[in-house]
Amino acid sequence: MHTLDEADRQFALHPFTNLSAHQKQGPLIIDRGEGVYVWDDQGNRLIEGMSGLWCAALGFSEQRLVDAAAKQFAALPYSHMFSHHSTAPAIELSKRLVQMAPEGIGKCFLVNSGSEAVDTAIKMAWYYNNALGRPGKKTIIARQRAYHGVTVAAGSLTGLPYVQDGFDLPAIPVIHVETPHAYRFAEPGESDQAYSTRLADSLERQIIEAGADTIAAFIAEPVMGAGGVLIPPDGYFEKVQAVLKRHDILFIADEVICGFGRTGNAWGCDTYGIKPDIMTSAKQLSSAYLPIGAVLVTDALYDAFSQYTDKLGVFGTGNTYGGHPVSAAVALETLRIYEDDDIFGQVRSRAPHFSERIQALQNHPLVGNTRSVGLIGAVELVADKDSKTSFPAADKIAVQAMLAARKHGLIVRAAPGDALAFCPPLIINDEQIDDMFDAVTDALNDVLKANSTAV
Ligand code: PMP
Repeated sequence: MHTLDEADRQFALHPFTNLSAHQKQGPLIIDRGEGVYVWDDQGNRLIEGMSGLWCAALGFSEQRLVDAAAKQFAALPYSHMFSHHSTAPAIELSKRLVQMAPEGIGKCFLVNSGSEAVDTAIKMAWYYNNALGRPGKKTIIARQRAYHGVTVAAGSLTGLPYVQDGFDLPAIPVIHVETPHAYRFAEPGESDQAYSTRLADSLERQIIEAGADTIAAFIAEPVMGAGGVLIPPDGYFEKVQAVLKRHDILFIADEVICGFGRTGNAWGCDTYGIKPDIMTSAKQLSSAYLPIGAVLVTDALYDAFSQYTDKLGVFGTGNTYGGHPVSAAVALETLRIYEDDDIFGQVRSRAPHFSERIQALQNHPLVGNTRSVGLIGAVELVADKDSKTSFPAADKIAVQAMLAARKHGLIVRAAPGDALAFCPPLIINDEQIDDMFDAVTDALNDVLKANSTAV
């Protein structure tokens, strides 16, 4: 007989895990959850300061979602959306998503995950340009440190070396442009607006150099999540959209993390004045209780698809479980809870306290930069605050902080650029926010002590 720990090491191949380190340290086995808390198999209670993977918006014990799933399982556990088939939950969900989406969005295509949503969005951008008789317009512009998923096309857009190295990615035509991150990359004394202008000018130069007639779309997370919670400087998206418009390039907003209240509004697009041609969403769409994603497109794109299918026969893409009725029923109930409980309003009212507690960490000797919007944020750890000098990569300083936080009852995440990321369930209250940042402070003090010769 294996213990669970032994069986995990022997049989499970873990994503985004150093495989040999896993053999030594073994798994963190999570047993159960309630509200914003989870318990490991040793009985330790942890605040889930990352909502799992930026997704469990309503925490871990929302009975309405359990009931919605049970009801739909009993009525119809499976159907699909191929060849004119549909179900009530998939229809109702599509309607609700389109109605809450930014102006211009008219149709919803249901998938199972963020990566699938992004892959589908890329295919749609290609299909659109083929429909318009512009087959050369295929390259996608993404940004360094972007995270758009791991499948062959989506993983090609992700701008993180550890997602691409060893997997022969990128495998589709992509250009990675600069990351908007003022703390690291703005010139000394450069205003947000001036920095945004510089980034938009640079984007335009790269478009002209490649040829606008080769570029299909620009893809961006409104706030970059897995790349380290990078919040765009003022004016950035306004200036970028003007460039894209001039060159007839589609805007794909990857709302997989920002969607459904994370930044204080329904969409990151609402927070940053983005008018997307295509939107991808997943994660908080079902509060993560079941896998589901959605791709939302404008009527203009849909009309082009529709005419093209008259020529090609069918819109030849889709997945067996796209629009799965149980996932759709749970997503629909999630959206109802967001509305009934004014969850996005709650995010707006908790955000100032969250931001205050993050900003207070600026006084800590290890913290070079703090940033947040809504209920997502990060601190960036440095060896020297004045010169912004980083710790040696081998120190894995953010990983040290992440592990120290766990000892103080908190799950947070080490992100690229020595960032420690926070993305708690949207139902977190002020007292729990305090507990969370008290634990972060204790963890940073532990790390400071352990690395005291380096600072
Ligand atoms: N896009 C963004 C912005 C994401 O954060 C993620 C997942 N972290 C994805 C796409 C991919 O989603 P999934 O893991 O569901 O494939």
